[in-house]
Amino acid sequence: MIAFGLTEDQLEYQRMARQFIAQNVTPNAGHWDETGHFPKDEIRSAWENGLLNLCIPDSVGGAGMPLVDTLIISEEISYGCVGYSTSCMANELALTPVVIGADEDQKRKFLKPFVDEFKLAAFCLSEPGAGSDAASLRTTAKREGDEWVINGQKQWITNATHADFYTVFATVDREAGHRGITLFAVPRNTPGITIAPHENKMGQRCSDTAPISFDNVRVPADHCIGGPGNGWKIAMRTLDFSRPLVAMSAVGVARRALEESIKYAKERKTFGKPIGQHQAIGFMLSDMAAKTQAARLLALEAAWRTDQGLPANKEASFAKAMCADWCMEICTDAVQIFGGYGYTKEYPVEKLMRDAKLIQIYEGTSQIQRVVISRELMR
Ligand SMILES: Cc1cc2nc3c(=O)[nH]c(=O)nc-3n(C[C@H](O)[C@H](O)[C@H](O)COP(=O)(O)OP(=O)(O)OC[C@H]3O[C@@H](n4cnc5c(N)ncnc54)[C@H](O)[C@@H]3O)c2cc1C
Repeated sequence: MIAFGLTEDQLEYQRMARQFIAQNVTPNAGHWDETGHFPKDEIRSAWENGLLNLCIPDSVGGAGMPLVDTLIISEEISYGCVGYSTSCMANELALTPVVIGADEDQKRKFLKPFVDEFKLAAFCLSEPGAGSDAASLRTTAKREGDEWVINGQKQWITNATHADFYTVFATVDREAGHRGITLFAVPRNTPGITIAPHENKMGQRCSDTAPISFDNVRVPADHCIGGPGNGWKIAMRTLDFSRPLVAMSAVGVARRALEESIKYAKERKTFGKPIGQHQAIGFMLSDMAAKTQAARLLALEAAWRTDQGLPANKEASFAKAMCADWCMEICTDAVQIFGGYGYTKEYPVEKLMRDAKLIQIYEGTSQIQRVVISRELMR
């Protein structure tokens, strides 16, 4: 059976998130973009309003929210500012591996603090020489007595500067390839962690992205999550959760670009009529609307499969690739519809276009999603 309607609860989350974002995020997004300000206070407000850490299970006091519901919230947050949304989602991305791989004691130890107080987390997989090919990572972890000692460098880490907690993927045996990759929970205050200045990015400028180095960072044995050698499986399952979420963030950006474009196309007149009544612009708007809806359905289907415990690897990649690519097209068309004004900071569409570009790159580029899909098709 297929049901496309939202439940009462989902409509309520949507309404609440929409109202929160309209008040706290949308009016500030342009300023944050200009200044590169990290909106920590507003992310704290999201936590206070129950919009953060939605993946934490109810067994440790979290929301334990189905992924579909999380996506509904993600669309609303990203509509206001996807850089802000990326910072919020980085918590989901960093905590999901703990949800997937940890035992109950570890869940209480590492997840409960995020229920009790406002904290940020970061997911540390990528390295300077290992992005798309993350399995070739070089960060090492060695067992010494009751401790693990971590050495290496991570690159492009969202929330790096402000996080209280890192989930770090390191290899315990480089010869074993991805079978050596292991997950560690690393508190920020552990000696040996250095965070470099954050990147000066093209878009999503209010999100914090920085390299982190680990120099003889020692963590107790029980900070190894899921056991040695199981980190790659945990990372891949995490991406099945996070890719639909990122896909839905693209839908939020696309919807914003579409709504701004419709408004402008009704107001702006050329040759005696609103530009939306010129067929070329009307058709552009039609395609933007159809792609936005198609993208939403792909993202929701991938999330629904994950919630049902069905295989979702291919569907998560369908969603990530198409939502990101369509979002980029939609935002580029939005700038075109605004003409010269679209190319200035007077209107929000140039920011949307810069922000959208990153969605095609992080959490697996659009090319890598197609690698995943084609592998599944040829299996
Ligand atoms: C702002 C930002 C935030 C990020 N946040 C995080 C984070 O929080 N945690 C984290 O771990 N990582 C994070 N990342 C890293 C991100 O996931 C990687 O940048 C991404 O996976 C691409 O890796 P790369 O940059 O090394 O590019 P490369 O892997 O060097 O790829 C370069 C180009 O080659 C293409 N390519 C590579 N291999 C193939 C192939 N087999 N077939 C076809 N094309 C291919 C890619 O699609 C791309 O176009 C972030 C990145 C950015 C920019």
